[in-house]
Amino acid sequence: METVPHAVDPDRAAQHGSVVMRLLDELFPLVEGFYVDLHKNPELSHAEQRTASGVAEWLTRTGYEVHKGIGGTGVVGILRNGPGPTVMLRADMDALPLEEKTGLPYASTTRAPDEDGVEVPVMHACGHDAHTACLVGAADLLSETRDEWAGTVMIVAQPAEETLDGAQAMLADGLYDRFGRPDVILGQHLGPQPAGLISHRAGIILGASRAYRVRVHGEGGHASQPHTTVDPVVIAANIVTRLQGVVSREISPSEMAVLTVGRIQAGTKANIIPDEAYLEINTRALNDNVADQLESAIERIVRAEAAASGAAREPDIEMFVSCGVTRNDATCSAEVAAAHHAYFGEDYVIHLPDPSPGTEDFNYFGLPGDPQPIPYVFWFVGATPHDVWEAAPGDTPYEKMGNVPSNHSPFFAPAREPTLRAGLAAITVAALSYLGADGARGGASSAPAGAAFPGPAPDAVHEPRAVAGDPVDPFGGAPARGETAPQPAAPLSDPLSDPFGPPQGLPAPGGRPAQAGPPEPNDAYDSAFLASSWPDPAQDPAKSTYDADMDAVMGAQDDELRDEWRSDKAEESTLSTDMASILDDDGVPQGPPQGPPAGPSYGGPPPRGSAHHAPPPHGPDDDLPDAEYRL
Ligand SMILES: [Zn+2]
Ligand SMILES: [Zn+2]
Repeated sequence: METVPHAVDPDRAAQHGSVVMRLLDELFPLVEGFYVDLHKNPELSHAEQRTASGVAEWLTRTGYEVHKGIGGTGVVGILRNGPGPTVMLRADMDALPLEEKTGLPYASTTRAPDEDGVEVPVMHACGHDAHTACLVGAADLLSETRDEWAGTVMIVAQPAEETLDGAQAMLADGLYDRFGRPDVILGQHLGPQPAGLISHRAGIILGASRAYRVRVHGEGGHASQPHTTVDPVVIAANIVTRLQGVVSREISPSEMAVLTVGRIQAGTKANIIPDEAYLEINTRALNDNVADQLESAIERIVRAEAAASGAAREPDIEMFVSCGVTRNDATCSAEVAAAHHAYFGEDYVIHLPDPSPGTEDFNYFGLPGDPQPIPYVFWFVGATPHDVWEAAPGDTPYEKMGNVPSNHSPFFAPAREPTLRAGLAAITVAALSYLGADGARGGASSAPAGAAFPGPAPDAVHEPRAVAGDPVDPFGGAPARGETAPQPAAPLSDPLSDPFGPPQGLPAPGGRPAQAGPPEPNDAYDSAFLASSWPDPAQDPAKSTYDADMDAVMGAQDDELRDEWRSDKAEESTLSTDMASILDDDGVPQGPPQGPPAGPSYGGPPPRGSAHHAPPPHGPDDDLPDAEYRL
């Protein structure tokens, strides 16, 4: 089908979600158990056999037609449930070569050979274990509630996201030819926001990434006789220094650009001038023009520095990673955000003012460059434990985001229950935005109206941070629009009294393990925390999304500047184009966080920490992508 499916009314999607989520308490321990199992047994990119088997087993058990080995270890599950759109739900399965330092009782101690055969520690430091657990949980919930919806669910568990080649591998293996082309694609990613918070962004949400290998050829010799050599170490050093000026002097200040030399190697001994030096360079940008500009600057500077030092042989420059931006369809993004808004309540859904410089290969599933690309929506699910968030330095949410352990940090320790519950509900409700029916079908008519996140309702004893009179508690089944909150079916079971135990020794901001305080027994349902941490999105309901976005991006700038953003001449800039797509779209929920500061860290989870301890480079034929170029 070529047309974008019609999304159901967001309140109806939320109602379907409420009905479907009634099964959540029954299913949740299984999802949580699967997550813990994956976390303890992470697998590197291209080696996700055990994870893939777990996914395939789960899907088979719940009635899906299952296909394994798609594009390597990829798994596809199909569930046909009458006429209707095909909705693809995607998660990634791979982990990182990183030694876990979270102190969690289920921390990974796994070691495995990397693609060079070198044994490395392995950790789920990017949350792909949670993505996968939420994916099979959502698949199960949808399978168990077929009366609530119609259409086809296409489950895609992707390998090798961290190497940015898993999505392409699945497509090249005939994903759409063999299993049908979806009408809309949905995906999510954990990020360093408060656990349970859902962050949307219409238009570009993640940047583009490219990576280059550079080999500089000098002429080696004795360290005491430098005049007889061409020293590649000096050439490489000058290249690194000179490249630092590219973003600041050559790229327009209105564009986002990053250029990082992530690897530099030369020589073996102090008294030998080597023959060559080797560098790896990574760039990030929000559009191809900027990425091309960075590329040509790299090429020009590398060649010029080699020539300036009198190198007889031209340097070798090779691009070995190239991944485009993730650009959410504006209409679909608004539809899914509206359904999340209706389901979770306004305190749990925000609109990000700026894209993240992180990169995902999720965008390939949308067939960029195709005459009829497939619309997709990708959002973030906050994973930071609330006590860690609260203790993080920073006066604003965006400052705090830069000060909590983030994706790719050895301390990345998602708050298990609130994160999984939110991720599971978010992808299920998003699917029901397209699969659900506007008219009542099956049990939908008996759904409670309004926002609801059924699950155990809050218990005053377990709500240490609850504010007296706070009317909103989306995680517990919030009263909305004057409705009375549904009564809890059963008393709250302490989510942290389970066999997995509470996380111990969560890292303090800055990477130091914190004292394990008394466990927060009801962190998952503590709406007062979020409500007090993020500005109230409903504070100024009259403000348009566009204007609020402008505030967020520009602060309290004067109107003249705003007009400039609106003017045609600003249209080449990525941000303006992106804003235009938001402006076109009336359905985005009102009210992004107000007035976040300009700064490098807001807008999504930036990569942090050293993700990769790579061995020395092989020869020029070594074209295996490294694991450090994505979110
Ligand atoms: Zn990731
Ligand atoms: Zn990652």
